[in-house]
Amino acid sequence: MATRGIIGTNRQFKIGKIVCLARNYAEHARELGNETPAAPVLFMKPASSVIGDREMVHIPAYSQECHYEVELAVLIGTHASHVTADVAMECIAGYGVAIDMTLRDVQNQLKAKGLPWEIAKGFDTACPLSDFVPASAVADPHALCLKLAVNGLTHQNGTSSDMINRIPQIISHISAIFTLEPGDVILTGTPAGVGQVIAGDVMIAEIESVGCLTIAVD
Ligand code: ZN
Repeated sequence: MATRGIIGTNRQFKIGKIVCLARNYAEHARELGNETPAAPVLFMKPASSVIGDREMVHIPAYSQECHYEVELAVLIGTHASHVTADVAMECIAGYGVAIDMTLRDVQNQLKAKGLPWEIAKGFDTACPLSDFVPASAVADPHALCLKLAVNGLTHQNGTSSDMINRIPQIISHISAIFTLEPGDVILTGTPAGVGQVIAGDVMIAEIESVGCLTIAVD
């Protein structure tokens, strides 16, 4: 069972569902040849896919192309159903760093057939997730630098100011479909620069004022 704490407090959350946005940064949507959607494109990862700092991603045998996507993770701290955007930020307990590990070859095959993506996105170890800083420690979650390096080389270097759907709108939209509960996590999408990792690689994902993850690949 995955639990995560709020740094500097004794609050602990059992991680629940992980609701993720696809194509929430225009440049990343373009690099994969996708249109920028009108409404948020959502998918979920199970809590069983979560690993922590210094743990290892295991690429399943059915994929030959595993990609990293650094993402700002939002930890929900309250019960939230049909919340409006103007009060949505009150539902947030903290912010963390996640890597949305994606089996791109499998995802592309499923997409082409109009099939769901879960086995490309929700496999065991597919969600490296840091501890969280308190929401009050982040003055503006839309002004954060997100970086991901592989073996010391920076491949993603973006800013959360480029999000298409902003966090209050995201929470409002999601909470009208799925009731959000304490411990649920939202992954807010990835900036451009995604790419492949192979066994032996080491990823360092970092979000300014939020945290850092060091994750090896197996
Ligand atoms: Zn993603």
